[in-house]
Amino acid sequence: MAQYIYNFGGGSADGTTDMRNLLGGKGANLAEMASLGLPVPPGFTITTDVCIEYYKNGRQYPDGLSAAVADALARVEDIVGKKFGDAKNPLLVSVRSGARASMPGMMDTVLNLGLNDETVEGLAELAGDDRFAFDSYRRFIQMYSDVVLGVDHHTFEDIIDTYKDERDYFLDTDMGADDWRAVVDLYKDAVAEALGRPFPTDVNEQLWGAIDAVFGSWMNDRSKTYRRLNNIPESWGTAVNVQAMVFGNMGDTSATGVAFTRDPSTGENSYYGEFLVNAQGEDVVAGIRTPQALTTKARAEMGSNDPSLEEVMPETFKELSDVFAKLEAHYADMQDIEFTIEQGKLWMLQTRSGKRTAKAALKIAVDLCQEGKITEEQAVMRVGPASLDQLLHPSLDPHAPRDLLTKGLPASPGAASGEIVFSADEAEKRAADGHKVMLVRTETSPEDIHGMHAAVGIVTARGGMTSHAAVVARGMGRPCVCGAGELRIERDGSGATIGGRAIKAGDMLTIDGSTGEVFFGEVLTVQPELSGDFAKVMEWADKCRRMKVRANAETPLDAQTARDFGAEGIGLCRTEHMFFEASRILAVRQMILAETERGRRSALEKLLPVQRSDFTELFEVMAGLPVTIRLLDPPLHEFLPHTDAEIVEVAEATGVDPDVFRRRARELEEANPMLGHRGCRLGITYPEIYEMQVRAIMQAACDVAKASGESVVPEIMVPLVATVSELRILKARIEAVAKEVFTEKGQTLEYTIGTMIELPRAALTADQIAGEAEFFSFGTNDLTQTTFGLSRDDAGSFLPSYVRAGLLEQDPFVSIDRDGVGALVEIAVEKGRRVKPDLKLGICGEHGGDPLSIDFCERVGLDYISCSPYRVPIARLAAAQAAVSAKKG
Ligand code: PEP
Ligand code: MG
Repeated sequence: MAQYIYNFGGGSADGTTDMRNLLGGKGANLAEMASLGLPVPPGFTITTDVCIEYYKNGRQYPDGLSAAVADALARVEDIVGKKFGDAKNPLLVSVRSGARASMPGMMDTVLNLGLNDETVEGLAELAGDDRFAFDSYRRFIQMYSDVVLGVDHHTFEDIIDTYKDERDYFLDTDMGADDWRAVVDLYKDAVAEALGRPFPTDVNEQLWGAIDAVFGSWMNDRSKTYRRLNNIPESWGTAVNVQAMVFGNMGDTSATGVAFTRDPSTGENSYYGEFLVNAQGEDVVAGIRTPQALTTKARAEMGSNDPSLEEVMPETFKELSDVFAKLEAHYADMQDIEFTIEQGKLWMLQTRSGKRTAKAALKIAVDLCQEGKITEEQAVMRVGPASLDQLLHPSLDPHAPRDLLTKGLPASPGAASGEIVFSADEAEKRAADGHKVMLVRTETSPEDIHGMHAAVGIVTARGGMTSHAAVVARGMGRPCVCGAGELRIERDGSGATIGGRAIKAGDMLTIDGSTGEVFFGEVLTVQPELSGDFAKVMEWADKCRRMKVRANAETPLDAQTARDFGAEGIGLCRTEHMFFEASRILAVRQMILAETERGRRSALEKLLPVQRSDFTELFEVMAGLPVTIRLLDPPLHEFLPHTDAEIVEVAEATGVDPDVFRRRARELEEANPMLGHRGCRLGITYPEIYEMQVRAIMQAACDVAKASGESVVPEIMVPLVATVSELRILKARIEAVAKEVFTEKGQTLEYTIGTMIELPRAALTADQIAGEAEFFSFGTNDLTQTTFGLSRDDAGSFLPSYVRAGLLEQDPFVSIDRDGVGALVEIAVEKGRRVKPDLKLGICGEHGGDPLSIDFCERVGLDYISCSPYRVPIARLAAAQAAVSAKKG
């Protein structure tokens, strides 16, 4: 029989840290900590295999599981010397989820399990504290009823509120043992009324109810959304951890806390964390009480009067520091830790590699490398390429005027301005309509993640640096200010006040997530400095990578940005994008609408000098780096005049009767412009267009080469080729024009002619095409559209629902579909290289900036990737990581 259960605690463990696929991150790390001899409450992990089987078999557990759970529980009983369900000496357990990848707050947890009317008396006796025992019991009923039995948690909150109001109590600390006893009875009545049956008193029934609920929560809506946003496959499943309870709420020598071994926001090498005396773990993250700082230094920096852990429990703080050091040394990474102190005794409840901002990730990787704990290659692997996006975003312009409303906690760095919305649904709706929105909430919960994702930034009134809003915003790279205590939001979401000033939905708000400041209105921002740790990691990444990184750019400004970010050439200059400007579009329309070659040539004559100067500037900026210029590929509908006024404008400019152009525009209208008269089809039917472009490219190249004395290497690229004959004809024409220019200029230079592979037929006949091409660039935008038979322009209306429903793991326009589109790329690579072993291969579709697709490009052996300028650093890092992983196999 497969091993479904792995024990840990009592000085040993069945599992190890590298078993996270089977035990989940939490289970694997609990096992590892137990093996390291750290104080871990004993327990056991039910594997992810059980979860997978459970769903495969219509929510049935494999045979033998219940006996195995009973055995494991008996082992825990032996270690702690207590018995599950025993009236005098009861063992209580926690039941928690734990997937391979961390999914904070998405799945269910039940604490204090094993309490009933009898065991609660035993607990009171053992702890010598009735109040604690009945507080624990009511917490258990509340949590279990919410998570397992589906009773709305408001039911319980209302009961407590009413109870307190009736007695003029204000805080939970006003409640005594008898009060909690009374609340327990009220809770049980409420559950019985809601469910028509009493709250379960059988502890085994409680246990299996909780196990079912945790496995069940793998498929709840918020877990599904989280997985979709974080690319976590559904097939992984979650593990369940059952563990002896330890209590941070057994009086003033007890506490609970969370800590990072380094600052997760800045990466500083100093402990960073929060704790609460006499509290359970959930109280810290829930943001209801404001937690205290771990270290005295942090307390001073926060300007807080509440003592630090270092001050209130110096011995335990010392012990905790030793554990931090041991864990960091063991994992060679910054750890995120949960601990509980039960009547002076320290217990470790969790450790994992801590989530961090991009800035912190870079600093920690560089520091650990310089401390000799990891290699440069390991440092490169420690930074998530997509997270670099956070650094490439703006911060507040220090000179811009601003109107400060309040200051909260700097929960996630970066600056953003957006229109205020008070709900996640509203955030999603307004963002879909193209608005930048700022989500303003009292606090956030996992139900809000879709709105947090849609927002440019998040502000909350409550909660600390490890509250839900802070953790999730950092993970998503959204600027966030938490615990802005002066913020009061109307219950009905109609408006809010900050420090007495009214704000309403739709007002602009600006936040600086690095300082915690919140401003009224929009504040100007500036671009970030990309030096220091960023530059270091990039330098190491460049040493690791094999593929070159180029940019898709048309304008000198974009080309310069791309170079500043480290691009090694231009992989795609979309020449039609050079024509969007108002001053040029007229000539383009004139060319498109012309009925005769003469008409077209006259428009092209106007465009030639414009194109030549564009290319000149581009070659100058790229200073000898390769520049791939794609000949015109305009989906016609993007350039045809849209209004009658525009038609009249073209008619006036050319002296032609507007009716002629009206008719012509109607003739040119296409049912499927994405699959219409575009790309090389246009070049084949109207040779003079490409002739003009090649002339402009060659003249510019000759001029720049002459003026600079440097080599200029134009790569002329033919788009949307389906057959080799298209390329053969166009290549001959390109060569003829080049020759003419060289004769005119009395100068020659090297240039190459290649093609895009963006149609399935081109991929499948790549051997024929390679005979005529010196390079291929995979246009995976069109290749995805044509492989799926999905229009790029229309897919947005239904593709997201496919992804949500799990029909597609990801949007194939974002991350390459390896099985289909990827297979075509592989065929083309293999066939192309068979005919021409030194054929240069690249990619220039949007996938060129997507880390997962970049990994694919590495594996199929492309020479370069090309992406938008702002993604160049991401691509450099992703290419390095792909090379390192490919080397490891
Ligand atoms: C492509 O199709 O992938 C491509 C880069 O070309 P465009 O997006 O301009 O069609
Ligand atoms: Mg294309």
